[in-house]
Parts: sequence; structure tokens; C-alpha cells
Amino acid sequence: MAARRWITPPQDQWDFPWTRSDSCPCDSGKPFGDCCLRSDGRPHLKLGPIQPTPPATGYAHPRCYLNRSCDCSRTISREHYISRGLISRPGLKVRGMPWQAEPVMATSADALISKILCQRHNSALSPLDAHAQRAFLALEAAQMHATKASLSRKRFSTLISGEALELWAMKTLAGLYATGMDFKVGPYRFRDYPPPMAKIADGLTAIPPRSLMRLEVPTDADAHEASLGRSAVSTLPVIDEDQGRLVAVIFRLQGLGLKFHLEDKGAPTPSDAVLRPHMIDVVGPDRSSRIYVSWGEARPGQIVFLKLKPATPRQKDAWRASQKG
Ligand SMILES: [Zn+2]
Ligand SMILES: [Zn+2]
Repeated sequence: MAARRWITPPQDQWDFPWTRSDSCPCDSGKPFGDCCLRSDGRPHLKLGPIQPTPPATGYAHPRCYLNRSCDCSRTISREHYISRGLISRPGLKVRGMPWQAEPVMATSADALISKILCQRHNSALSPLDAHAQRAFLALEAAQMHATKASLSRKRFSTLISGEALELWAMKTLAGLYATGMDFKVGPYRFRDYPPPMAKIADGLTAIPPRSLMRLEVPTDADAHEASLGRSAVSTLPVIDEDQGRLVAVIFRLQGLGLKFHLEDKGAPTPSDAVLRPHMIDVVGPDRSSRIYVSWGEARPGQIVFLKLKPATPRQKDAWRASQKG
């Protein structure tokens, strides 16, 4: 993808296309006015609780990476490190993952399972997987809408949850580390730069949950990659040698990368990055798509523009196939 960025001044206006009586963009089937339209006039996709139902069990399962909260069940789950909905497509290819010997390999979703969460915590966190899947599919649909040849100039618009994406990134990064596997990121070993597991666990189990991440939609082409085919997912931990720590993680799906910066008080935040955008405009040759990103706090945000080339025939085929399957 050719991606370019224009940084806009902070926007106070959302200018969203849905009226109160339109069907809500979250696909709940309810009217927008009764669902994701918040009292301040902005759209907000609610996350819902991700804590186990009280009362707490008082038990810490030794293999659950959320056991600090002493609210585990006795049974361990068979958990996917990457949300199953994102990877359970036929012909899956995975890149940059610890279990692979080759740079790109085909695998199946069932190969990506590890016992890292108790059943109680696993099911409590499952809404995050659903939100992440929705977000990645929305980004994929936005890209296809913006690049496929059509006479229609109609804009595709949808709504995703930024909060849920950040919490999902925490869960996925912690899960990857909790598997105990090791792999190299360039010259670095993943295990030499552990994510802040205790802070992640505390953030995920807090009420309300607290994000340690800051979402960036990268506009440099390096963060994205050419389409690997129908189903490709990859992860790239970002290590800062000067700081001697893991500073971010990039998750890519179907070639589109989302970067999550780990919060660290005192460390410089990237100055040129648009963090927590409230709109992502995917701009194709003739049409564009707009993804509204909702955040818990009501504050002006920025727009990120991703400028795309026309889709290649291969990308179009892949997209068509994914719509059928
Ligand atoms: Zn809704
Ligand atoms: Zn647990």
C-alpha cells in the first residue's frame, strides 16, 4: 500500500453520515439514535465489561497470565494467541511469529493455540477479539471499497472501537509472551525485551480497564506490506535499542498494519505520529472510505489519510473470495 499522511488540525466536528433513525453502524440492528449515538452527539461503540462476573473466585491459576487478580477458574483454556476470528480462514499464512521456521508459512488456526489463560479470564476477554475482528474486517472492506473499479462515488463509512483495539493489542502481546516461545526480531530476541506483563494484567483487569497502548495508524509504507494473499496475519515487536525495551508492537492483517505504542512515562512519544485518530480516511483513485474510531473520552482527535493505489487483480480476487467464505 502506498500510504500518505496529511495531519489535520484537531477536529471538533464529527460530521458522521448516520441519522438517529438509520440502522446503527455497529451492526446491532438498532437505530443509531438508540445505540451508538452518545449524549454528547458523537458516535461511541461501547465495549461492555471484560471482567469475570463477580464474585471473585480468590483463586490464582498458575498458568493464567491474569492470575494477579486472584479471580481465576480451576480450568485452563485452550486459547488462541491471535483472535480466532482473525485467523480461522483457509489458507492462512503467518509471518513474524515465533512458531515458524520460514519467513512466510502456511498454517491453520488450530496450530496457534496455547494454554495461557484460565477459562474464566479467557471468556471475560472474548469481547476484545470480536471488536478487533470487526475493526480489521472494516479496514479491509474500506480498502477494497476505495480501490475497486466502480462508477459509484458513494463513500463507505463505518465505526470501530479504538479503546477495544488497544486492549486487544495488550491481550495479544501478553498472550504471545506468555506462550514462553522465543523468536528473533532482526538482531533482537523477543524474550530479552519482555512486555510489562504485570502492568498489562492490571490494566486488563481494572474496572474500567486501563489501556497501556496508544494506537497509531502508520502512514509510512514500511509498516504495511504487500498483500500476502487471502489470509495473512503478522506481528512485529518494535524494540528501541537506546531505551533498551520493547516500545511498540505492529499487528498486520491483509497487509494493513496497526501500530500500538506502549506507554512509558518519561520516554519520548513519537512526535510525527498521529496517535488515537478519530477518523481514518482510506482514499482510493476514485472513491474513499471513512472509518470512525470511537474512544471513551470525548476529545477532539485527528484524521489519518491512507492513500491507496488501485487494487491489483490478485487483491480483488482475494477480497471476493473472503466475502464468499
Ligand atoms: Zn450501535
Ligand atoms: Zn485467570
